Amino acid sequence: MNTDQPDTARVAVVTGAGDGIGLATAQRLARDFEHVVIADVRPAAAFARAAELGQRHLGVACDVTNESDVVGLFDAVLQRFGRLDVLVNNAGIGEQSVMTLEQTVEGFDRILAVHLRGTFLASREAARHFVAQQSGAIVNLGSIAGLAGHPGRNAYGAAKAGIVAMTEAMASEWARDGIRVNAVAPGYVMTDLVRDLIARGALNPSDIEDRTPMARFARPEEIAEAIAFLASPSASYITGVTLPVDGGWQAFGAPPARLGRVADKRESH
Ligand code: NDP
Repeated sequence: MNTDQPDTARVAVVTGAGDGIGLATAQRLARDFEHVVIADVRPAAAFARAAELGQRHLGVACDVTNESDVVGLFDAVLQRFGRLDVLVNNAGIGEQSVMTLEQTVEGFDRILAVHLRGTFLASREAARHFVAQQSGAIVNLGSIAGLAGHPGRNAYGAAKAGIVAMTEAMASEWARDGIRVNAVAPGYVMTDLVRDLIARGALNPSDIEDRTPMARFARPEEIAEAIAFLASPSASYITGVTLPVDGGWQAFGAPPARLGRVADKRESH
């Protein structure tokens, strides 16, 4: 069997899909996959969002930091559908929103647990199945905060950089078993995670718009499209990459004042 062959009965699992980018991804994958599994730490959100998606889909309560929850998630998926093709490791939480000198050990550990332990555990459990069937695709959620320094996002940046490293390690480890592992690195996406940072005064929206060449936040659906591509047969020779989906953030290295429309620049000369 080859995951990269079209097959209408394919199954995708998305963690943290009760909201935000994960929900948009589940909705997008429901166009390509017969069954989408919405796993979330909030049981009510997982069940409600899966019901909205339709009867073919499944909601599962799962805290990705908890090993028995994660093992139970994949047991439930295989029991219900008898197969698994794609895992999207999306579950995540925001930073404590304090500078490093004020960070607590508990807060630091929690960020690493959700992002790193969660991605490791779910990938390991999915890959047990993928190795047996000699096919599968994993897409992880990195961030621009894992690719360059963001003051006040110490633990979050470390966690996301770790996800880039895990993506490369797992891709290399499993490539000859027909498994592809990639990541996306979104810029700022307007979800509850970001709305919470704004509400706490940790993020000023206009600073982000000024620093982003495309001068706006991403919509969750735009990240979902990139995830769907990396999970699809169209990406059959892509593994181990982290794809920025950031409106040009990573590409840009000059002061924000250098940004502008071509016509505006001409007028100012
Ligand atoms: P949201 O907070 O909107 O959604 C994340 C979902 O994951 C929520 O339903 C959340 O539940 C759930 N979740 C949290 N912890 C766990 C856990 N331990 N186990 C299972 N589910 C959990 O976040 P986003 O959609 O913004 O972010 C999704 C991913 O994208 C994250 O990995 C994030 O780091 C990454 N990302 C986001 C960016 C952005 O600008 N928004 C930019 C770059 C990367 P609850 O609401 O209860 O916490």
